[in-house]
Amino acid sequence: MTRIAIVTGAARGIGAATACRLAEDGHAVAVVDLDQAACAGTVDAIRQAGGRAIAVGADVSDADAVDAAVARVTEELGAPTILVNNAGILRDNLLFKMTVDDWDAVMNVHLRGAFLMSKAVQKHQVEAGWGRIVNLSSTSALGNRGQANYSAAKAGMQGFTKTLAIELGRYNVTANAIAPGFISTDMTRATAQRLGVEFDDFVGHMVKEIPVGRAGQPEDIAAAASFFCKEEAGFVTGQVLYVAGGPRA
Ligand code: NAP
Repeated sequence: MTRIAIVTGAARGIGAATACRLAEDGHAVAVVDLDQAACAGTVDAIRQAGGRAIAVGADVSDADAVDAAVARVTEELGAPTILVNNAGILRDNLLFKMTVDDWDAVMNVHLRGAFLMSKAVQKHQVEAGWGRIVNLSSTSALGNRGQANYSAAKAGMQGFTKTLAIELGRYNVTANAIAPGFISTDMTRATAQRLGVEFDDFVGHMVKEIPVGRAGQPEDIAAAASFFCKEEAGFVTGQVLYVAGGPRA
């Protein structure tokens, strides 16, 4: 059955791959990102493959922008019943150097953003008596040097997900989290740059610790998101799936 999906942070990386995968699965997709023009690549890829997509510019941490974005999706595509909270940023630093702005920015995009989007979309899900919410956590939820803000936010995403599963289950709405390990995207490229190492060397170093012997790709995460959004996954809720090429971060 065709559903209307919203994927945040979908201009690139994991969000873009997830938007494309949900379109392949037959859903119409709203590609949401900070800059509407930046969504064009993802939207074009979906349309060229015969799918339906629109680009929506919105800052997920801005309550008015989120409400306007969800209203636009409802008008142009239909009532959204699939939501992937993927938008994310890094502001890494050791605790003693981390500024209040670094802390707030990360909390706002990941936690406040997921809260605002979920609140706006659940209305439609409850009305439809069906819904899927997928939240992006991270192996950093287990703790990671230089990421006090990010690991707290990503652990928070897990608690948020489990609570949504409990509250929304009676409406046939599931909520699950994906905790990716190391995935090749602009985000991990930026980390390599911040550490002053070539990306290929950085990947080589990370891969040594990954049992399957390779870096993750955005499509690896998109496949997990696709599963959680399927009809047949309706009895799977409140779960955290680590997609990390191994059992540990
Ligand atoms: P990415 O390549 O940096 O893409 C993230 C996207 O989110 C960007 O297009 C970014 O837009 C957008 N975004 C940032 N702030 C936003 C906001 N306030 N409102 C709307 N969109 C916003 O990141 P990625 O690697 O694909 O990561 C996607 C998600 O997976 C994130 O939640 C990340 O924390 C999580 N994750 C990633 C990894 C990894 O190894 N890559 C591992 C674990 C978890 P701009 O470009 O304009 O900033």
